[in-house]
Amino acid sequence: MQQDLTPKAKHLIFVGGGHAHALALLMMAMKKPEGVKITLISNAIQTPYSGMLPGLIAGHYSFDEAHIDLGRLCRFAGVNFIEDYVTGIDPDNQTVHCRNHPDFSYDVLSIDTGSVPGHNQLPGAMGGQSRSSL
Ligand SMILES: Cc1cc2nc3c(=O)[nH]c(=O)nc-3n(C[C@H](O)[C@H](O)[C@H](O)COP(=O)(O)OP(=O)(O)OC[C@H]3O[C@@H](n4cnc5c(N)ncnc54)[C@H](O)[C@@H]3O)c2cc1C
Repeated sequence: MQQDLTPKAKHLIFVGGGHAHALALLMMAMKKPEGVKITLISNAIQTPYSGMLPGLIAGHYSFDEAHIDLGRLCRFAGVNFIEDYVTGIDPDNQTVHCRNHPDFSYDVLSIDTGSVPGHNQLPGAMGGQSRSSL
């Protein structure tokens, strides 16, 4: 029996489809890296371009104009797209845990999940608070 000497492709997982990963995907669509299988896991298919958010609210742009379609971008870049929320990472076993999928194994992991403002620590940000309670 002949031995398969083809090097096994490394699995690179992108967690989160934010601005940084969207740009990386675009670059990979233009020049696909060799010997690597890539998976993007993001809880949102449409990622907003924040710089256009005020214009979206003002009605200058449509939803589609102000959002990047990650599913389409992944198809273009030859990247697997998984729509799910990542709930944990196990660096010892090199696995990613998701809400609705079995674990994914990775060789290399890149995390770009952005940041979330601490609304509950910002006086008035949750709404309904009177000035006297601040
Ligand atoms: C109104 C507004 C205007 C802005 N204008 C500018 C500007 O003009 N210039 C500028 O430089 N910056 C601007 N910013 C800041 C800029 O948007 C952020 O710095 C940038 O979006 C951060 O990019 P990121 O890739 O880190 O994450 P993000 O763009 O926040 O993306 C994070 C992604 O990860 C996904 N995600 C999060 N958690 C999980 C999880 N557990 N599992 C799976 N997926 C997950 C989210 O769905 C999202 O798609 C602006 C921000 C706002 C709100």
